[in-house]
Amino acid sequence: MIALVPTMGALHDGHLSLVRRARADCSAVVASLFVNPTQFAPGEDFERYPRDERRDLELFGAHGVDIVYAPGVGDVYPDGPVASLAAAPELADSLCGAVRPGHFDGVVTVVARLFRHCRPDIAYFGEKDYQQFRIIERMVADLGLPVRVVGMPIVREPDGLALSSRNAYLSPAERRIAPVLHETLQKMAQDLAPGSDIAAACADGRAALRVAGFDRVDYLEVRDATTLRPALRHGPGLRVFAAAWLGRTRLIDNIAAGGG
Ligand code: AMP
Repeated sequence: MIALVPTMGALHDGHLSLVRRARADCSAVVASLFVNPTQFAPGEDFERYPRDERRDLELFGAHGVDIVYAPGVGDVYPDGPVASLAAAPELADSLCGAVRPGHFDGVVTVVARLFRHCRPDIAYFGEKDYQQFRIIERMVADLGLPVRVVGMPIVREPDGLALSSRNAYLSPAERRIAPVLHETLQKMAQDLAPGSDIAAACADGRAALRVAGFDRVDYLEVRDATTLRPALRHGPGLRVFAAAWLGRTRLIDNIAAGGG
């Protein structure tokens, strides 16, 4: 069995949790290292995205990765870096997709190409990017690709902040505020109960983030974990999703709620 762990590098323990699981499950582990230009919109952080290939290679090696696939842009995009696949709109047009138009088209394009190059039996993705995980599951189903997609739990700092390569952008003052994102989602998930006013809970959560010092809240919503449709009432299989800005850094997080 061949495993693939796709990453954009700047590795942290979230990435390495996927590698550990792949190593435990499979006879061969391939990790990819590619900062994918087509999932960044003009004006986003493609140029300044943290890159440290030497450290990443060492970490992959120390965690038992057999092959690191680190293609150049021309290897993945011989005709130029343009997304050629479209993500399923019912999953991709809301949440991150609403504020990052075209982002998920870039994601499915690169993942399909990485699958074609690496031919994995299983590919591992983090639930940190839960919407991405669902969209990739859908792409694999729609295209009938012979790959099993596995979602892995979010790895967090001791104070709850989800590990992310972009956390390196945070100033010390922003870093102190950042865990409030998880705290807010956790409180919402705990408080959601039959009869809850979901819209009011989301409005309260957004207000809590702004009071804590977040500069902008892109979204804070409760959705069905499978369809990603807005949750109108409490029930099983819900998830709370948020994206919010601290200065120039956009943080995302999500958590299961309603018993799912
Ligand atoms: P990225 O390098 O940001 O594209 O992430 C590569 C993979 O690692 C994706 O499947 C992410 O969802 C996953 N990942 C990133 N951060 C975490 C985390 N804190 N916990 C678990 N998985 C993560």
